[in-house]
Amino acid sequence: MSLDTPRTESRPERLTAHEARQRLEHERNSRLTQLQAIDEAGHGSEEQMLSAQKDTIKRVIKEIEDAFTRVHDGSYGICQGCATPIPVERLEILPYTRFCVPCQRTTACA
Ligand SMILES: [Zn+2]
Repeated sequence: MSLDTPRTESRPERLTAHEARQRLEHERNSRLTQLQAIDEAGHGSEEQMLSAQKDTIKRVIKEIEDAFTRVHDGSYGICQGCATPIPVERLEILPYTRFCVPCQRTTACA
């Protein structure tokens, strides 16, 4: 007899709140380290460039903070553009994203 039951290892479609927090925590820590490194780089002719970099990093930290709030209220992992779940693969790369890839493209062009 042939019993070929395909083993469908159901991959979770969403990160658990715990996983999401861990990833966000990790991202935040690495940004804070970057900020610190920039501060320690000191002052000089590069100061303006460094301060632009700092602004970018601070914006990302803000995004991460917002993502923590979404984990808390349960909206984390849902695209804010089209309200569909953001693929886990994307959240693994960009845990603080609020858009799926198509919506991100749309907003990036805006
Ligand atoms: Zn979307």
